[in-house]
Amino acid sequence: MKKAAYVLSVALFLFSLHVSEWAEAKMIVTKIDRLNVREGPGLSYPVKKQLSKGQRYTVVQETNDWLQLKLNERETGWVAGQYVSSVKEQVKAAVDRLRVRSAPNSQSKILGYLKLGQTATVIETKEEWTKIQTGSLAGWVSSHYLTESASAENTQFGTVAADTLNVRAEPSQQAAVVAKMTFGQQVTIIGETGDWYQIQANGNISGWVYRAYIMTTSFYIQVLDDDTNIRTKPSLSASVQMRAKKGQQYRVIAKEGNWYKIELSGQQSGYIAEWVVSIVHNNNRSNGSIKNKTIVIDPGHGGKDSGTIGSNGLMEKTLTLKTARLLKNELQSAGANVVLTRENDTYVSLPDRVKIAEQCHADAFISIHYDSSPNGLASGMTVYYYDAQSDYPLGLSLDPVLSETETVPYRGVRFGDFHVIRETTIPSVLLELGYVSNPTELSTIASDSYQQQVTKEIVDGLKRYFSN
Ligand SMILES: [Zn+2]
Repeated sequence: MKKAAYVLSVALFLFSLHVSEWAEAKMIVTKIDRLNVREGPGLSYPVKKQLSKGQRYTVVQETNDWLQLKLNERETGWVAGQYVSSVKEQVKAAVDRLRVRSAPNSQSKILGYLKLGQTATVIETKEEWTKIQTGSLAGWVSSHYLTESASAENTQFGTVAADTLNVRAEPSQQAAVVAKMTFGQQVTIIGETGDWYQIQANGNISGWVYRAYIMTTSFYIQVLDDDTNIRTKPSLSASVQMRAKKGQQYRVIAKEGNWYKIELSGQQSGYIAEWVVSIVHNNNRSNGSIKNKTIVIDPGHGGKDSGTIGSNGLMEKTLTLKTARLLKNELQSAGANVVLTRENDTYVSLPDRVKIAEQCHADAFISIHYDSSPNGLASGMTVYYYDAQSDYPLGLSLDPVLSETETVPYRGVRFGDFHVIRETTIPSVLLELGYVSNPTELSTIASDSYQQQVTKEIVDGLKRYFSN
């Protein structure tokens, strides 16, 4: 290595260390959509970009009411302080019926109580007292009876499993409804008591929900930058036990304050700050086998919805069900758990198909269709994905096997905005397995030999996917 290059790389290395250090500094979350980011701390500076609501950034510095944010590795920008709120520290009550008082002394009025394990946001601290807020209750508690988050071992993540879920101010059916959530939304479970979970979601929502309506899940996070610190404790002062590379994924064991407790190899664990990672939704990948994987197969159309109709009167809905049943048998003999969104010629709405997939915590979702075109010569099969992160890898795994098909040309993996793959959070693809509108192709795709070949190929593709 030449000397100049060496000096440069050392300089870059030092710079990246420095960046990872202040990447753990104060965090804010944006409160409005289309928030102007300016080149300097004032309205007279030009707008360089806009941010949407709910985005998190680290603060580089503050001047008057303006904050300089680190927008990405290379870029910073200024926003008005009134449009952001700081991401606050959480504490938990270490005893039951912890008194919340009007002032930081034990003679002041009792405003209410915290239950054992209940989480609250820290507003300020004064000597031995901490001012907290939870729901409508705000006041001072003795810091001795609060645990930072080291005892938050039970923090879990979940998904709303009801069509509409009331979020209440207190763990009681009589308590006021402070928010409503809908099916499939993600929550962080920060406390629990009896039949109730205390949850947070989307930055703004916090309160109590009936626990039967929350499905708990495990999930993975992905590191955003090289040289990201993994620490021994959930604190910036804790020692660094290792550094992670950009793109590395870890299973989340718990959330403690603004830190994820993650699983490391050899039964070790460590902590990583939440603002240096993103959440990965395809959490069941890389176990190496299709065995015990749950795969949802969605035979397109059904009942009153026949799909497209071929020149010989064959309906798409009949063919998709035939393919789905064959695929189910093949997958089951490979050891997978298989769920069909419809077992026979019935009508199932698109949202209901998505619900079925989400409710059974599927590892993959495959929607089966056959194509049609006014051009009777149109021909070929296509794999459609929606989400580049979770769906595209599944589509790519099918690529080499489907391209082996000799009877029907293969058109590749393409982006497609279809309801069932757009609305599912699990890895999902929609397959168009040939043209019903092309008379020659129709006789091929309706044949038993094609049906057997294409279902075997899909199974091989899924095996590839789960062994990645
Ligand atoms: Zn269709």
